[in-house]
Amino acid sequence: MAGNHQQPEVNIGLVGHVDHGKTTLVQALSGEWTDQHSEEMKRGISIRLGYADATFRRCPECEEPDAYTVADTCEEHDVDTEVVRTVSFVDAPGHETLMATMLSGAAIMDGAVLVVSATEDVPQAQTEEHLMALDIIGIENIVIAQNKVDLVDADRARENYEQIKEFVSGTVAEDAPVIPVSAGQDVNMDVLIDAIETRIPTPDRDPDADARMHVARSFDINRPGTTWDQLKGGVIGGSLVSGRLNDDDDIEVRPGREVEEGGQTEYRPIETTVRSLQAGGQTVDEASPGGLLGVGTGLDPSYTKGDALAGQIAGPPGKLPPTWEAFTMSVDLLDRVVGDDMGEVEDINTGEPLMLTVGTATTVGAVTSAREGECEVNLKRPVCAPDGAKIAINRRVGARWRLIGVGTLQG
Ligand code: GDP
Ligand code: MG
Repeated sequence: MAGNHQQPEVNIGLVGHVDHGKTTLVQALSGEWTDQHSEEMKRGISIRLGYADATFRRCPECEEPDAYTVADTCEEHDVDTEVVRTVSFVDAPGHETLMATMLSGAAIMDGAVLVVSATEDVPQAQTEEHLMALDIIGIENIVIAQNKVDLVDADRARENYEQIKEFVSGTVAEDAPVIPVSAGQDVNMDVLIDAIETRIPTPDRDPDADARMHVARSFDINRPGTTWDQLKGGVIGGSLVSGRLNDDDDIEVRPGREVEEGGQTEYRPIETTVRSLQAGGQTVDEASPGGLLGVGTGLDPSYTKGDALAGQIAGPPGKLPPTWEAFTMSVDLLDRVVGDDMGEVEDINTGEPLMLTVGTATTVGAVTSAREGECEVNLKRPVCAPDGAKIAINRRVGARWRLIGVGTLQG
C-alpha cells in the first residue's frame, strides 16, 4: 500500500446498497478498512461514516488508464510512480435505517462513487435512495462502479449494465461513466481511478475564505480514570468545507452546548482554541479542505463525549452562520416515495414531524404551518446553517423515515 504523504484535497462519497461492496472498494483503493468500530465489525455494516485516504499515483511510462495505481512502484517498468492526488473516501452506510447518516455525509461530499453490484437486479432500494439523495443535495460529479463482475458471466454483466443505464437515465447520474470492477479481486481499479480523476475534480476553493468545518463526530479521548492533570481536551472530527484552520486559532462551535437555566434549555455557542490538528493521518500545523480533520481543543471533554457535537459547525468566532430553532423553508417534493410500491408523496401537513438533514446535522422538526411549496418548522434541536442551505426532508412512512423532498432554508 502506498503511504499517505499528502493531505487529501477532495472528499468522495461511496454510496449504494448494503453489501454491494463500498467498504471493499475503499479498502482496495486505500488499503484501509473503514468499518473500524467493533460493533460495526460484528454487524458487518458501516454504521457511522468511515473515512479512508487514498493517494492515486501514475506510472510515468504506462499509457492511461493503465498508468493509474495506488502502488509506489510500477512492476512492469520497475519505476517509482508519481503522486497524482490524495483523496478521502467517505464510506456511507447502505443499511436502510442509516439513511440519515448517509444524508449527513452527503453534506461533505464533493463527488460520489455509486457502487452497484452486478449480481442483483437494478435498482436495489438504497441504490435508488442514495442516488436520489445525491440529486437532492446537488452532488453532480458521479462515477458508477459496477462491482462484483467476477461473480457473473459476460451476458449477465451486459444485462446488468443495461439495467444501470436505464435506471440512471433522467437522473443526475445520467452521464456518469459505468466502470465494471471487482473490488474483491482488484480488477479494473486503474480505469476506475482514471474515471474519478476525470469526473470528480478538486473543487475551486478560496484560500482566504473563513474556515468552516462541518463536525461529523466528537470524542472524549481520555481513558477512564485519567487524572485531571493528564486530561486531554475534547476532540472534534469532521471536514473543512472552506478556509483553513491553524494551530492556536480561536474557534467557535455552534449551536454549541445545551444549557439549562431556570427550567429553560437553550443552546449556547462555545469558544475554544485549536490545540492540535490531525489531517491525512498526520499532525499538521495547518489544515485545508478535504479529508477528515481531527481537531484537539481546549474544551472540557464532557462537551465532546459520544458525538455530542456531531452536526455542528466550527469556525472563527463571530463568522459562523446563525443558529435556528425554527425556520421557513421552500419545499420541493419528490413525485413518489423512493422504494417499492411506496406510492405518491403527499403534501406536507401542519403538525406532522419531519426529519431534516441540514449540513451534517440531523434534527426532527414539527411543521407549524404548511403552505403550497413552503413550510415552517420548529426544531427539536437547533441547527447552525446559512440562509439558502439545502435540507433533505424525510417523513415517517411505515416503520422508517423516507426521503420525500428537498427544502431550501429561507430564514
Ligand atoms: P458494503 O455494505 O457496500 O460496504 O459491502 P462490503 O464491502 O462490506 O461487501 C459485502 C460483501 O461482498 C463482502 O463479503 C465482500 O467480501 C463481498 N465483495 C465485495 N466486493 C466484491 C467483489 O468485487 N467480488 C466478490 N466476489 N465479492 C465482493
Ligand atoms: Mg460498508
